[in-house]
Amino acid sequence: MGVLCSVIKFENLHELRRLCHWGPIIALGVIAICSTMAMIDSVLWYWPLHTTGGSVNFIMLINWTVMILYNYFNAMFIGPGYVPLDWKPEKSQDSMYLQYCKVCQAYKAPRSHHCRKCNRCVMKMDHHCPWINNCCGYQNHASFILFLLLAPLGCIHAAFIFVMTMYTQLYNRISFGWSTVKIDMSAARRDPLPVVPFGLSAFAASLFALGLALGTTVAVGMLFFIQMKVILRNKTSIESWIEEKAKDRIQYYQTGEVFIFPYDMGSRWKNFKQVFTWSGVPEGDGLEWPIKEGCHQYSLTIEQLKQKADKRVRSVRYRAMEDYSGACCPLNKGIKTFFTTPCTEEPRIELHKGDLILVTRGLKHWMYGDKILNSAAEESYPLDIEQSPFQEKYSKDYLTVLGGTRVRGWFPRKCVEKCLYDVEADQEIEGEKKNR
Ligand SMILES: [Zn+2]
Ligand SMILES: [Zn+2]
Repeated sequence: MGVLCSVIKFENLHELRRLCHWGPIIALGVIAICSTMAMIDSVLWYWPLHTTGGSVNFIMLINWTVMILYNYFNAMFIGPGYVPLDWKPEKSQDSMYLQYCKVCQAYKAPRSHHCRKCNRCVMKMDHHCPWINNCCGYQNHASFILFLLLAPLGCIHAAFIFVMTMYTQLYNRISFGWSTVKIDMSAARRDPLPVVPFGLSAFAASLFALGLALGTTVAVGMLFFIQMKVILRNKTSIESWIEEKAKDRIQYYQTGEVFIFPYDMGSRWKNFKQVFTWSGVPEGDGLEWPIKEGCHQYSLTIEQLKQKADKRVRSVRYRAMEDYSGACCPLNKGIKTFFTTPCTEEPRIELHKGDLILVTRGLKHWMYGDKILNSAAEESYPLDIEQSPFQEKYSKDYLTVLGGTRVRGWFPRKCVEKCLYDVEADQEIEGEKKNR
């Protein structure tokens, strides 16, 4: 009884709510359709009980489904791991190197970020993934990547079965006349084996499942390569952006500092082992991280604080060079922009040539930022706005708030160009520099 109670904790039941979201519903729907159709088609194409090949094929199929679902639910329910509420660094004087999260009432441990959707500070946050309706971070990075690897492999197997089934089923039914091709779409009569009759609807269903499987292979496969890069470099998507801003900041002030990203252990294998272990539990505690020689335990958080203090560089200003309609997958902005549209619910913003945007984060082909609505908005605004701390880190006091409205969202990087600051602003910065 005690065991049962500890398994079905209130917390766990609460976690089941994660399933009620479009992401998991679609993802599980695709898994269900592809694996069910693959099993039905296998029965038709390669009856599992008659030959070894057939049995192996069928067992493999079940194996993919089980492993995909296992890693999917692990990624979803184990979660990324949250920074404990009230967390403080062991040595109290170290707190000067860290940012404080007002929502969690805790210091932000190195590599952690506050997620607006999860409403907690997430350890080694990479991104909030709508498909698992949870963040991808410290604890679930391995299962997340295994899911991204297994899903395309399973889909390729399923796609092969769909093609073979349709081919073998059609083979005996196509008759070539003098100038006509006739396909007998009724259930097979000659073949004694099929348990499931293969008619027109079965053909249509197989074709639909084939499309789903191929689409999933491409989309999820791309995500797999992106995430593998994150693991092998030991640098999350958020950290890549912090590093980009660090280079910008150092170049602007010409301080001669060299920013070395502290968590890349220098060897891909070491980085890989930090996430993938035999026990399934990643190395460390998610709060303290092994660092490169010559770096400080708080190298990255100190850089984050510098960026925070440095209003100028924090807001990288861009100017729109061409119009953008605000479409999710714009057709006229190049094939890369089309295919790399950010997989989030966040809005896209319409751009007109000449618009100014304060960019707060970016991907290779897309950027996210606030549109500066008019010249008055170019001044920085004080911070009396309620803000999610994730934003606070990047954009808190240069928000363009005009009567409470903000235009914020994604747009293709291709449409904008980085602004060089105008003379007036530069003089102001010169003054700031002298005061240092
Ligand atoms: Zn927080
Ligand atoms: Zn999240």
